[in-house]
Amino acid sequence: MKISEILEKYNEKIILYFSKLSNTGLVLIDKKGKILDCNRGFLELVGLKDKPINHNINNLLSKNSEKISFPENVFSKLNLLFDVLGEAEILIKGYIFPCDELYLLVFEQHRLTYNELIVKMSKLNDQIVNITRELEKKNAQLKEALSTVKRMMNTDPLTGVFNRRAIDKMIGREISLALRHKIPLSVVMIDIDFFKKINDTYGHEKGDYVLKSFANKIKKLIRKEDIFGRYGGEEFILILPNTKIDNAYQASERIRQKIEKMNIKGIQGNITASFGLTEILPTDNENSLIKRADEALYLAKRRGRNRCEIL
Ligand code: GH3
Ligand code: MG
Ligand code: MG
Repeated sequence: MKISEILEKYNEKIILYFSKLSNTGLVLIDKKGKILDCNRGFLELVGLKDKPINHNINNLLSKNSEKISFPENVFSKLNLLFDVLGEAEILIKGYIFPCDELYLLVFEQHRLTYNELIVKMSKLNDQIVNITRELEKKNAQLKEALSTVKRMMNTDPLTGVFNRRAIDKMIGREISLALRHKIPLSVVMIDIDFFKKINDTYGHEKGDYVLKSFANKIKKLIRKEDIFGRYGGEEFILILPNTKIDNAYQASERIRQKIEKMNIKGIQGNITASFGLTEILPTDNENSLIKRADEALYLAKRRGRNRCEIL
């Protein structure tokens, strides 16, 4: 006895098996692709709950799928990419049989062979490696952008030294450190003398250039631990950690004398600056410390400018 004979003899049971139980997908379409019926196996294959009766089978295919070709009398092979939920493409292989005016599509559960599985997994692995590499690159770019933003937030755009915002943050920290560990801390307010006249004589742009040159000069004359920033228009601040007032005075005098001798392109004569110095007291906070340095600066202005005064 042959299988074909058995199939013929028991065809009713076999039909029942294919329409209700088998994982083989069956779809009956007309010659325009309209679905007239399908079995449970097809629903499971493509991941549908309800029979898509009257829908066109082409609407269930991904746009990358090959199109269904309708053979004349023999059956032909199908390799279709289904995408019924718009989430993922599923490759389903099968055959199309012409049956009178209609067509029967038979799809088989596609199992990957061991080798296909290895190839697929190594491809996926490659993809993951690439994505991870991309992600790391983007992360590094983001980190750099963030640090640029941070730097910009703390920098005076004209002179490139710390701005008021950065100074306010740093002085608070230096005060706490000095008071907690009982170490000295000196603050120097520096203001360019008669700066308004420079603007009036040479123009605002030249004034800007003077501010830049002034800040650059001071930056070169201080230690790495010292904190230097622009506090206002032509007013700068120098915070000297672990420095007693005598040493702060020496440092300020040295700077004052260098400024006095500095040549600035396009400016006739020299510029000078006044310095107001003070050292931290145990009772100090940010406001009282800055205020005393400001008063010392005012004193230096009153006493004739181009000088250092301590309060
Ligand atoms: P004093 O010796 O008493 O400090 O006199 P001064 O002229 O330096 O001080 P005053 O406060 O009268 O003038 C400061 C000038 O600084 C006025 C202002 O226009 C100028 N200024 C402030 N910020 C800038 C800036 O960013 N660029 C330029 N070019 N000028 C500025
Ligand atoms: Mg001034
Ligand atoms: Mg001023």
